[in-house]
Amino acid sequence: MRVAVYPGSFDPITNGHLDIVQRGARVFDRVVVAVLHNSQKNPLFSVEERTRLIQEVTGDMKNVEVDSFDGLLVDYVHQRGAQVVIRGLRAVTDFEYELQFASMMRKLDSRVETLFMMTNNQYSFLSSGIVKEVASGGGDIKGLVPEAVEQALAGKYGY
Ligand code: ADP
Repeated sequence: MRVAVYPGSFDPITNGHLDIVQRGARVFDRVVVAVLHNSQKNPLFSVEERTRLIQEVTGDMKNVEVDSFDGLLVDYVHQRGAQVVIRGLRAVTDFEYELQFASMMRKLDSRVETLFMMTNNQYSFLSSGIVKEVASGGGDIKGLVPEAVEQALAGKYGY
């Protein structure tokens, strides 16, 4: 069974992320969307909230599972019996960081392959950060995030 882990902060999940999940689910037998516990960033949504939102918007995808993890990604990948890590690539700015990330993964364990999927053009400039920025100012984020996320953002920012 080919299992892939799609790790990220997902604070919150956007339609760009969701597109990668959908496409990944067509390539692999199982995709585990893994929310990273990251104490360095100051998240808007707790890991539980982020996990619940992803579960809600991927509920109809039978071979997609949502989980969270702490510590080293390679350890988590083994624990899940996965062989591949999926990452999304947007504009050129993602490249350098992702190259570092993939090189480090390979150094830590050369059996784990990092697979990059190019973003759908319409989501090239979409990030969780920009969505939060616009939503916090009361701007329209329709079409950029799933409806459940839109509502959750409205709840956080009180509009
Ligand atoms: P991280 O904090 O690890 O960068 P993110 O939640 O921002 O986590 O993103 C997780 C993964 O999804 C990364 O590989 C990122 O490049 C990718 N990604 C984020 N936004 C998009 C998008 N709009 N289109 C495609 N991939 C994306």
